[in-house]
Amino acid sequence: MSEATGSGSGDRALREELERFRLLANNVPMSFAYYENDGMRCRLANRGYAAMFGYDERSVVGRSFAEIIGESAAREIQPRIDAMRLDRRSVSYERELHDADGKRRWIDVNLLPHLTDDGRILGAFVLVVDITRHRQSEIALRASEERLAKFMQASAEGIVFHRGGFITDVNPPLMALLGYSLAEMMGRRTLEFVAPEERDRVAAVIAAGSEITYDSLALHRSGETIPVEFIVRTMEFADDRLRMTIVRDRRYRVDTEARIHHLAHHDSLTSLPNRNAFNERVEALIQQAAAGAPGFALLFIDLDNFKRVNDSLGHLVGDALLQVVARRIAGSLRAHDLVARFGGDEFVVVLTGAPSADAVQDVAQKLLSVVGEAVEVLGTSISVTPSIGVAMFPQHGDTPDELIKHADTAMYHAKSRGRARAQFFEPHMAQAAYAELALEGRLAQAIRDREFVLHFQPQVDVHDGRLVGVEALIRWLHPQRGLVPPGEFLPVAEARRLILPIGQWVLQEALRCARAWRSAGLLDVPVAVNLSSAQFQAPGFVESVERVLREQGAAGSELELELTERMLMDDLPAVRATLERLKALGARVSVDDFGTGYSSLGHLRHLPIDRLKIDRSFVADLPHDASSAGIARAIIQMAASLGLGVVAEGIETEAQRAWLAAHGCREMQGWLSGRPMAAEAFEAWLRLPRGLPAS
Ligand code: C2E
Ligand code: MG
Ligand code: MG
Repeated sequence: MSEATGSGSGDRALREELERFRLLANNVPMSFAYYENDGMRCRLANRGYAAMFGYDERSVVGRSFAEIIGESAAREIQPRIDAMRLDRRSVSYERELHDADGKRRWIDVNLLPHLTDDGRILGAFVLVVDITRHRQSEIALRASEERLAKFMQASAEGIVFHRGGFITDVNPPLMALLGYSLAEMMGRRTLEFVAPEERDRVAAVIAAGSEITYDSLALHRSGETIPVEFIVRTMEFADDRLRMTIVRDRRYRVDTEARIHHLAHHDSLTSLPNRNAFNERVEALIQQAAAGAPGFALLFIDLDNFKRVNDSLGHLVGDALLQVVARRIAGSLRAHDLVARFGGDEFVVVLTGAPSADAVQDVAQKLLSVVGEAVEVLGTSISVTPSIGVAMFPQHGDTPDELIKHADTAMYHAKSRGRARAQFFEPHMAQAAYAELALEGRLAQAIRDREFVLHFQPQVDVHDGRLVGVEALIRWLHPQRGLVPPGEFLPVAEARRLILPIGQWVLQEALRCARAWRSAGLLDVPVAVNLSSAQFQAPGFVESVERVLREQGAAGSELELELTERMLMDDLPAVRATLERLKALGARVSVDDFGTGYSSLGHLRHLPIDRLKIDRSFVADLPHDASSAGIARAIIQMAASLGLGVVAEGIETEAQRAWLAAHGCREMQGWLSGRPMAAEAFEAWLRLPRGLPAS
């Protein structure tokens, strides 16, 4: 192409063609020029090319390449021109321009050699495309990528970039979280770093391209799964689509949430669910059963003689033992069974899936043997056996409370049959006889656990309030029920011979307390202890009294024994012999609840007795009730005629006291002068200055 010159119609046609070419050249979205090879002078340029360097399409013609684009640029480009000439092929390069008005532009340049048929170079076409806009967006992108990269490095949370599920970048916190280096993670599938059970879900999120936040599990190099939160975003970069996922470590959060939940639902010693958690779950099982789910068995497990371990070896050993037992019980069950600790040495187990009685029996046997195995704790080998009670759902109850109560009843039955065994609940156990049985089991435990206390009630002179005696009265300090009066448990204890150890303890404890008060100068009268007939008739009873006196360093005269009329009636010679031996020790003997039995005067005359205690029932209606007054008066007179002392029980009012004083009864015991008091309260009472209004 050359600037056309000439004339005529051919000229005109050529001129028109040229004009059309110029129109086209100036309107294509590209700039171009033609340089002749020798001297690199511009022979042709469109307007865009000329304007790029501050010329127009006419003024640019004839100027050298260096003149047009500038010396330094020309020098810079020279190697490319040389390459084009040498290879006779087009070359392309990008170049940054600074406009006349100082604006930066980027151009993409193509140099095309103009070759003759025999390969000589005549010149070069220069085709220039302005790529400023493209470059600017690229720069912006790079800047934002850099910003992102900086942010990513600075973030304390793990961040991963991935494209189509393959990792393109990760930040140091994520590497630290997962235990890999950058090189080890780049290019690998994101799913490789997700716990297997979560992969389907994560893959679905990636496939859907959703922007969501969800909890999942990451996979550490060690194979450990880490609870995490994924916050997924998509980033559009030019034509690229990157996925960015923030990986937030939930361990601490999960930990605290879990810890709080755990504390509310678990026993801190064994980490087993506690009573509340257990009840909730049994409730749920019962509800499921209503919807057709199978029944279950509830086992109440109580360790035999655990308290003894605690008392003799200390709480540390006791606690360690409970932990071992908890592990053994849990280890004997299937995954869907439940086990809980109800506190103390009580564990409860639920066997799910409608087990047969045989299957339950098998599990119970297994528990009996694994729990009973000796445990090495702090250098001591201990073994405790469990007693197990079983209640079946739905046969034996339809609430957690009822099932637990019945399993508990069955458990006491197991204990009463000799411990270390399992017992199924049977409906008749709910009846009174079995309530007694359960009570018996509980009482046996109370003896081991030393749950009894003595209260002391003073006996005073009706005239001057002087202390003339003190009666020790037993109470059961029941962990749940509080102070239980003797009438509620002694009859069972007597029927089941548990009264012997209880009575022995009362004797010891009464003498021990009295001894202390005596040494403090607070007490100078005997302490009275009630005897039950089983005790009184037990072989070796007198010897046991002797032994206790010796152990407590007490003289016989410090003790008073209260017997009932009924105890004196059976075998007179034997009774007399026993009483005489007791008298020989120096002990005082009184007849309790006098008037309620059938003892005759002749009978009493032959027995070595010191006092009669007028039963409360004859005192209650004094002074108005004539028959009570008649009996009370008769007892007082009889005592006087036999040379016996007489004490009236249950004196609550001043009128009662006055009546007694007026009818020759010198001693009284009752709320008016003092209620039965715990040892400390009685000691305080002893220290009080006292005196009754003179009659
Ligand atoms: P008890 O030997 O006749 O004891 C007197 C009972 O009358 C006591 O009842 C006492 O709390 C109660 N009492 C005392 N003053 C008054 C009063 O002014 N008004 C009223 N309403 N009651 C009063 P507690 O302590 O419930 O004992 C009941 C029975 O249990 C005793 O009757 C005794 O037979 C027996 N018992 C108590 N401790 C022992 C013990 O250690 N061994 C044996 N074998 N029996 C015991
Ligand atoms: Mg008594
Ligand atoms: Mg009495």
